[in-house]
Amino acid sequence: MESRYREADARAAIDRYGADHGEDVALRVYTSRLIGGDPDLVLHGGGNTSVKSTATTVHGDSVEALYVKGSGSSLDQVEPAGLPAVQLAGLRRLRELDALTDEEMVNQLRIHLFDAGAPNPSVEALLHAFLPHKFVDHSHADAVLALTNQPKGAEWAAECLGQRVAILPYIMPGFPLAKAVAEAVEARPDVEGVVLAKHGLFSFGATARESYERHIELVDACERFLAERERAPRLTPRVRHDAAPEALAARVAPRLRGLLAEATGVPDAPYRRFVMEWRGSPEILDFCNSAEALELAETGPLTPDHVIRTKATPLFLAEPKWDDDEALCAQLEAAVGQYRSDYVAYFERCQREKGVQRQPLDAAPRVALLPGAGALCFGRTARDARIAADITEHTLAAKARAHATGGYEALTPSELFDMEYWSLEQAKLGKRADRALEGQVVFVTGGAGAIGVGIGDVCAAAGAHVVLADVDLDRAQAAASRIESEAGGGSAFAVAADVTDEDSVRAAVDAVCLRYGGIDVAVANAGVAHVDPVETLSGSDARRVADVNYLGVLHTIREAARVFRRQGTGGHVIVNASKNVFAPGKDFGAYSASKAAAHQLGKVAAIELAPLGVRVNLVNADAIFSEGEVPSGLWQEIAPGRARSRGLSEEELPEFYRRRNLLRATVTARHVGNAVVFFASNQTPTTGATLPIDGGIVEAFPR
Ligand SMILES: [Zn+2]
Repeated sequence: MESRYREADARAAIDRYGADHGEDVALRVYTSRLIGGDPDLVLHGGGNTSVKSTATTVHGDSVEALYVKGSGSSLDQVEPAGLPAVQLAGLRRLRELDALTDEEMVNQLRIHLFDAGAPNPSVEALLHAFLPHKFVDHSHADAVLALTNQPKGAEWAAECLGQRVAILPYIMPGFPLAKAVAEAVEARPDVEGVVLAKHGLFSFGATARESYERHIELVDACERFLAERERAPRLTPRVRHDAAPEALAARVAPRLRGLLAEATGVPDAPYRRFVMEWRGSPEILDFCNSAEALELAETGPLTPDHVIRTKATPLFLAEPKWDDDEALCAQLEAAVGQYRSDYVAYFERCQREKGVQRQPLDAAPRVALLPGAGALCFGRTARDARIAADITEHTLAAKARAHATGGYEALTPSELFDMEYWSLEQAKLGKRADRALEGQVVFVTGGAGAIGVGIGDVCAAAGAHVVLADVDLDRAQAAASRIESEAGGGSAFAVAADVTDEDSVRAAVDAVCLRYGGIDVAVANAGVAHVDPVETLSGSDARRVADVNYLGVLHTIREAARVFRRQGTGGHVIVNASKNVFAPGKDFGAYSASKAAAHQLGKVAAIELAPLGVRVNLVNADAIFSEGEVPSGLWQEIAPGRARSRGLSEEELPEFYRRRNLLRATVTARHVGNAVVFFASNQTPTTGATLPIDGGIVEAFPR
């Protein structure tokens, strides 16, 4: 590991932040980002940094202040606002106390803030405060963890880092750890850092550069120490699978996702679901396929922080029966059931032993490791799933490295329980807003078109993860990345799908299973139109329209149903039919007939899929010409013909459609999106129903 400190970049940070926040904070921002930007040092919100400087009070007094990482920001993107200032003297005085509860510690951190609106300072802020050094850097570096999560961890750390550091055994973060570190450093004031076994590394210095570069040097020394002692290969191959890991993961994902969903007991919101992120790098596959995986996989995390993201252990299925799907599903069900009961037993045992009462968390695993398929990682959102996946990648590599040098030894379940059920740690997960489609995956065909984009926007705003499927992948990707930029990381993606082609729809659905783990809501929205009177309508034109509007809907429902059946947690189909189903117009036979067929198919599907808990509903919208910047491709094509049929100019069409309904309403794609959210959130126990979205057209009233 090499220092990435560059004087020019440090200067740039001072130029950017120095005037408003001072040079100390500017440099603290710069080197915090250097640490945060290296996943071998910290992952997603892990680690923390500080600088001791001054702050000016309202009276104009300059007071000693600790600027320490606050909760809610990650080091890689930290801004000065993410380093709240706390009165240093007040914090240091706390050391006089014999004990301090966690709640009081947080209270003390808050009441010593200079800005009452600042985020909570890190739970390790007191540790930073009690150290005398100006700059302090803390990471959970992979190499330090691979070295210290070993039976001989402390011994080796001493051998490797010598007199440069103080080495402490594992102590739960909080007031006692802060005191212990301060005492260790006072006993040896010349040390450059502190190794906390099975937790991480602190380094310190008089300047940002010194503290950061010491950190890198210490980690580098650990890396070299491990490399010299490492056996090759790290792991022994045990099984070989020839099938593509993507295919195996996509197959197994919906079943696993269904098994992980938590039944709520609430009829109108029966499940809380997870979203998946799959990882199948050669390293992960080698780990899962190794002889050591049997033992290593089910060991605890590298650092206690990870427990809230990945749970203490992953689920490991040693011998997946890839050749027999039914047996495989049964294996998964048994394994998840076992995991849940083991988790409940662990929770109850720890509660009993410690004499505490805690609110149990859900018992579902966050990570499943399968030989052949790799790591399937889950979270409440795609972002959470990604965090679990990143942690898993680093964890498996570090475990393999520890194994190949001495042997991996994790924290005990009792130590992990303290962290998992530590109120301060739980707070990091934040309050989840319970939006209507939280945790749901919505698959929209015709996703690049005006209505598809509108549906995607509204569903994403309702908390869903959105997949825009379209023949025009470029346009779908553009729309998905816009939705993602508004709704948050990982919340949307695009997939190529030609709904007229069964294989294409199947492949698209499999791609969704690989990306998010499954589907909860399928919106059969892709449609085309054609203007011609019946007398001159060619069979080929009628067939082209029917292929998309009718068979496309069949393919979509069928492939979605395959996933719904595998998940076993119900689901929704919404067919975007048309006002034309009940109120046809002249010259529009190909379109109206195909939409009527799809509409009827939806009703039959409602009957057939009800036993699976799947609801199928239909929306009949009137003409929608565009959504924001996205024009309706269908209308671009047919507007001239429809205008002619109605004796109007093209420009007059939108106004014509608005004036013909009872409410004089302009129908928009977002209205269709609202209908999708309404159905998909089980607001009413309804299936097989048609919801007109047309401003009220008497001839189109459902009957
Ligand atoms: Zn830490």
